[in-house]
Amino acid sequence: MIELPAVERMIEDIAGYTTGKTVSTICMDDPEVVELDGDLVHEHLENHAVDSVERHGRYVVLRFRSDYSLVMDMGDDGNLRLESQTAPPTARTKIRLQFAAGRELRFSSSGDEGLVQAVRGDEFSDSGALEKLGIDPLSEELTLELFESLALKNGRSTLKGFLLNQKAIAGIGNEYADEICFQAGVRPDLKVADLGKEQLQRLHRYLKRVLRRATLHSSAAHSDPGWLINSRGSGSSCPRCQHALESRRITGRKTVICPRCQRAA
Ligand SMILES: [Zn+2]
Repeated sequence: MIELPAVERMIEDIAGYTTGKTVSTICMDDPEVVELDGDLVHEHLENHAVDSVERHGRYVVLRFRSDYSLVMDMGDDGNLRLESQTAPPTARTKIRLQFAAGRELRFSSSGDEGLVQAVRGDEFSDSGALEKLGIDPLSEELTLELFESLALKNGRSTLKGFLLNQKAIAGIGNEYADEICFQAGVRPDLKVADLGKEQLQRLHRYLKRVLRRATLHSSAAHSDPGWLINSRGSGSSCPRCQHALESRRITGRKTVICPRCQRAA
């Protein structure tokens, strides 16, 4: 699954250009994947301006001033970027939004079915795929109290499984889940119910820190020698204590742990 900081950076790259600009034409390059009603596109999206670009978990919501929104599921490898209208689309291009101002916004992905939906008003928050998504980890609403109550509901899960559960917290992928556990010094294979209050506090704090840093200072984070994310190759040693890192599968996903820095209690 694509990681939240990557989606956040895409939005930063496109929001400045697209916000307030009018979409003149929408090209559905892959009609099997993008099943939008032609009349709806014509009436409510084309010749309307984009009001805002928002992220919810791994979804990007493009709100139009017509009160309709395009909701795009970034899936495993979705990509949104601005291109020249003269550059030919690729085999992965699903939909292109051409702006009267001259450029186009392209959504590309290797995924299929239901990746792009058009919804009216705020319907996306209580219908369709978004309904099943949990809270956004960078939202101020994810307080320690809420984090603790989510942990209580997911007590039978491993910590890793809990962090990856999109219905609890939306947008944390495999590598950042490991990074959060590493920075917080907690083993990801522990059962959530066995975590102490202090461990939950540390996890809540580092969840915010890791994702915020990866989003706002991506290149610094991805060259930080103290980050586990930069030492995931086989045979790597811990960036803090130099002990050999352990790599194994937890909840079906490759998980990297420092047995010395990450403790059970
Ligand atoms: Zn270590």
